[in-house]
Amino acid sequence: MQLLLHANGQQTVLTMENAGNQVLVVGEHRYKPAQMARKVRRYATQMWGDELGPDILNERLTFEALETGRTNGPWADSGTFSPRSGSFVSLGRWDEDSTVGIALHEMGHEMHLRRGGYDAADGVLREAVSLLAEREAGLLRSFEREPYYTASHLIAQLSELPAFGNQPFTKRWNELMELTNDTALADLINFYLDKSERLGLERWLKRFAANPELRDALLGKLAVTTLRYSMELRRQLMKTIVRCGATVTPEQIAQVLDSIVTLDRRYPDDDLSRIIDFCFAPHARPKRRLFALG
Ligand SMILES: [Zn+2]
Repeated sequence: MQLLLHANGQQTVLTMENAGNQVLVVGEHRYKPAQMARKVRRYATQMWGDELGPDILNERLTFEALETGRTNGPWADSGTFSPRSGSFVSLGRWDEDSTVGIALHEMGHEMHLRRGGYDAADGVLREAVSLLAEREAGLLRSFEREPYYTASHLIAQLSELPAFGNQPFTKRWNELMELTNDTALADLINFYLDKSERLGLERWLKRFAANPELRDALLGKLAVTTLRYSMELRRQLMKTIVRCGATVTPEQIAQVLDSIVTLDRRYPDDDLSRIIDFCFAPHARPKRRLFALG
């Protein structure tokens, strides 16, 4: 791994693995380049194994120590990736371990590119993939800007679900590699929420929508509806669907989801949880009456 040092208009190149015990002070942080290279290599090998070609760490990842005084806002440009020139990670803004996490983030983009999914993926999915990688390296960030905001929100939800989060990294990574956009990610969260908490959505769908295409369409609509939902709202919506009376049709559920989206848009300040209950009220299964026959 290479480290470019910029100082007084001069640029020198340091091979990090050969830096011994050398300590580099950039801004207010201290870095041990050799140790950083070891950490990055260890994480990357754990995560991607043989898929990590030998050239990637040596030729496609470059660290840079800029002259101090050039730092911008939080996390701004602490790392960049481009398919043409690879990854650049800046020293000086964050401590050593966070900087290692950012390196793994940028490598996430590289590995996504090599797997062939990067070009087809939307901005949210691209960042989500990389946020999964940096989390694996112990870096947890929060963001205000898009697409990072949505991507980090979705990855945090997915990771907290045991049926997803407890799987080995390779399994989690491969699942994300199959996706191309933000709603597919929301769909994956719904799938793992159903699985983790046995909400019965899959069983319900098999009973009420015999046609697989219809099931997929309904799940797609559910994913669009829940794209920005909290886990609690997802849970509420899914539990409400499976509690619908036996006469409800998938078309009716789709209509209810549309009306939830419409009302939420029209009354953004209203409690979404109450909107969900309101829209489903006509289809709610009547409370069991024990003495109905008496
Ligand atoms: Zn990124």
